[in-house]
Amino acid sequence: MRVITVLNRCTEFKRFVLEGSHLDGHGRLMVGVRPRRNSKAACGSCGQLSPTYDTAPEARQFEFVPLWGFPVFLRYRMRRVSCKTCERVVVEKVPWSTGKHHLTDIYRCFLARWARKLSWTEVARSFQTSWDKVYHSVQYVVEYGLAHRRLDQVTALGVDEIQFGKGHQYLTLLYQIDSHRRRLLWMGEKRTKKTLDDGFTALEQEHQRKQEATGEQEPTSFLGQIAIICSDIWKAYLTVIGLRLPEAVHILDRFHIMQHFSKALDKVRAEETRRLKAEGYDPVLSKSRWCFLKRQENLTDQQGLKLDELLQMNLRTVKAYLLKEDFQRFWHYTYPAWAEKFLRRWCFRTMRSKIEPMKDIAKMLRRHQGPILNWFRAKKQFNNGIVEGLNLKWNLTVRKAFGFRTFNALQIASFHQLGDLPVPPATHEFY
Ligand SMILES: [Zn+2]
Repeated sequence: MRVITVLNRCTEFKRFVLEGSHLDGHGRLMVGVRPRRNSKAACGSCGQLSPTYDTAPEARQFEFVPLWGFPVFLRYRMRRVSCKTCERVVVEKVPWSTGKHHLTDIYRCFLARWARKLSWTEVARSFQTSWDKVYHSVQYVVEYGLAHRRLDQVTALGVDEIQFGKGHQYLTLLYQIDSHRRRLLWMGEKRTKKTLDDGFTALEQEHQRKQEATGEQEPTSFLGQIAIICSDIWKAYLTVIGLRLPEAVHILDRFHIMQHFSKALDKVRAEETRRLKAEGYDPVLSKSRWCFLKRQENLTDQQGLKLDELLQMNLRTVKAYLLKEDFQRFWHYTYPAWAEKFLRRWCFRTMRSKIEPMKDIAKMLRRHQGPILNWFRAKKQFNNGIVEGLNLKWNLTVRKAFGFRTFNALQIASFHQLGDLPVPPATHEFY
């Protein structure tokens, strides 16, 4: 089978003909493209088919998906058209490449697809291309997806903040957490009031713009359709949610609350380790961090023995640990009234424990009792593990696999992994 036959199978360039292929001196497979006889060219600006004005003397090269490890390039002499609509001479639009890009759209989709499975560096290495080309390919796919996604039928939102970089840099992420669909909707720098406010505004404007474009008869408000919003206890978020989503049920979710417990426990343990050391005791607490932070059923045998040993001792860390373990029972209640009763008793006991970081948690729980109990009220309407799942997925796919330095690249990678975006149409699926 000839190379041209293969290429014709996976492409469909109307008005163009593939002809002649050869390996050049650098081991690249060059494929010629020419316009079909008597065919007009499309205006690069408005798309109108127009008469040819002139043809470039030199062919331009467009990189295509490699075949059997050989880089493949389409060679084509670009035409210019005199467009009546635009009233000027414009470079033509070709179906294999958007804008001034030197990579064909098909190749960009191909690289972007791999960039969901491998890190960008690995993709670049595997296909003998550069990190930048992978970056721009993912960017192309994500920009297409964002332009073509719809924001209808979003009724549950999750707000999550993620720490990244070396300093205390934060990102704010807005997720759709409906049980029928979960995806990343928006991402912004920092975790201030302005961040979240900007996020809400951006989504509202996008929703309005898209409804206008399709001539929606009964346009809806994006924020107006939100019935549930989940977030952490973070003052800036609480303020903005109160202002912009006064009608939605606000839920302080389990995942974020348990994160506070882990941080408090870490604090108690660190303080106690320091104190014991200063008083000359054996370093019993060293290397015990995971014994206290992991759920009991996840401990290794060794860690289990260590935990048993530690539990025998009258340590503040142990008391804090037991308070935390006891609190897990809270989430198993079905009725808000019983959960409330438990919460009251737990807080009362904890306030008498003399362990400051745990007392801080009790105070926090008391102060935000309403939204915490909403968790039980709205339990049936959304899957409460979603925020945790998305947070985990972000950490696994974006943070660990990529290690980006710029916000832009981070944002593109996040949408690529978690945005559930529509993909550009292709005539052939390459894997
Ligand atoms: Zn035009």
